[in-house]
Amino acid sequence: MKAIGIDVGGQTIKGAVVDENGKISHESRVVTPKTSGIDVITAIADLVKEIQNKSEEKLPIGIAVAGMLNKDSRVMLTAPQIVGWKNFPLADELEKQIESKIFILNDANAAAFGEFIFGQGKGSEKFLSITLGTGVGGGIILDDKLFTGAFGSGGEVGHVSIDLNGKKCNCGGVGCVETYLGAAYLAQEVEEEIANYDGKTTLSNFTEPVNYHHLTQEVRNGDELANKIWNKKMKILGHFLASVNNLIDLDTIVLAGGITQSKDLMLEPVKINFDKYSPFIRQTNILATNFSNEAGILGAAAFALKN
Ligand SMILES: [Zn+2]
Repeated sequence: MKAIGIDVGGQTIKGAVVDENGKISHESRVVTPKTSGIDVITAIADLVKEIQNKSEEKLPIGIAVAGMLNKDSRVMLTAPQIVGWKNFPLADELEKQIESKIFILNDANAAAFGEFIFGQGKGSEKFLSITLGTGVGGGIILDDKLFTGAFGSGGEVGHVSIDLNGKKCNCGGVGCVETYLGAAYLAQEVEEEIANYDGKTTLSNFTEPVNYHHLTQEVRNGDELANKIWNKKMKILGHFLASVNNLIDLDTIVLAGGITQSKDLMLEPVKINFDKYSPFIRQTNILATNFSNEAGILGAAAFALKN
């Protein structure tokens, strides 16, 4: 059994054939067009054709998209990273250009599903994956089923608010956990921390905006302010996961996204804070992903295989 997984992001569209063991082949990618919504559809269809030609098979296709879908996953409601995809009839347009059966899902849900079928979430019954990237995404899988809620937008953990008086979030909300942990918000926070810091910090040596790679590098170098900022982030993450867990009672939580390249700095403080802020005894496993960038492709293909 095989399927094609396509991962549509703001910068690139990636695709590959994935077999039932999660083995990837015939991988290919194109730059995401910035011209129109239909041009993005054509780019996806061309990529699918290219992969189908290479694999010489007509396979079901899973498509992971960055943005919010309606309940039956046929209409793209919002996709801030993709030109022309606001209230866009995604499935109809794809079906005009692609003959094979297609299955569409949100990219964070795809990452969670890929993790659940092929990765650290294997065998879990109550599963959450949280992707810490530019923003914070998530996917929930309960009893083998992706949980998307009543109207299709369930599992948006990044937009759970943890502070009524917090920062404004890109989603229009206030105090979303994304504003505390998303990479998009880090540089400004570091600037503010440097301005309020009396001592010397190597964080002020960077000429470009500070990202998580810079931050963890200076954590390892022993910089005091970098460690203070990092510890605060891990406390927020551990506390947040404990709060989410009060609602769902998970057996496994997987941390994913670029920041998990520093999982050696993450897992212990996150677990300590998770336990500290859990009011009940918990046996939840908190793990880091073993995938790098392929979770979206794997999850999209797995979704096509399982449906
Ligand atoms: Zn938000």
